[in-house]
Amino acid sequence: MSDSQRLFDLQVLDHRLEQLRSELALADQRAAGDSELKALNRRVQELRTALSQMASRLRQEELEVAELRERAASHERAIYGGSVRHPAELERYQHEIRMLRERIGAAEERELTAMEEQEGLEADLRAVEGQAGARSADLGRLRAQDAGRRPGLDQELRGAEADRAGLAAQLGPAALRLYASTAARRTPAVVRIGGGVCPGCRLPVAHRVLEEARAGQLVTCENCERILLP
Ligand SMILES: [Zn+2]
Repeated sequence: MSDSQRLFDLQVLDHRLEQLRSELALADQRAAGDSELKALNRRVQELRTALSQMASRLRQEELEVAELRERAASHERAIYGGSVRHPAELERYQHEIRMLRERIGAAEERELTAMEEQEGLEADLRAVEGQAGARSADLGRLRAQDAGRRPGLDQELRGAEADRAGLAAQLGPAALRLYASTAARRTPAVVRIGGGVCPGCRLPVAHRVLEEARAGQLVTCENCERILLP
């Protein structure tokens, strides 16, 4: 087997190793905790806090309206009960009743606005609770799946690592260095010439380079510097 073929096989293994490691890292992340679920649960708490603040604001508004109504009613009782005799006093009572009614109107407006906000918050809460529930169920399924797949993935990872070490042992340090430096700049680093063209940069490969590649020499594309396989 030529060095270029070995490097190509090494590249296939490296690609698989990368996939396995990222899959395992993702499973570890899911096992440790889910940032999306945490954010949703935080939002649920925020909405519940806002709703309880809204409920106490509404109770205060209701109390204020009741108190203002009671004061207006007591003024009216005074006027119609005949206890107010002087015109100046009557005018003062009537003026106060008008002021109280204005304040009642304003308090009722605020109450209405607060109730609308409350409805909006309740709808948001239901939606976010639904999302959190769905995310939690998804996560439970994924974690169970992860747990089932982990032994197989671990085993495959160990096998691929051993294969890679075995393959690397068959290659000289110069070939390994060339592969490492090419892989750091180009993906994929090793490409198979197709129809006399380098698939990495789509430019024709020089006849001499093609011949050397066919003879089993380790050659690179003169344009993109990828390692070429005949
Ligand atoms: Zn090229």
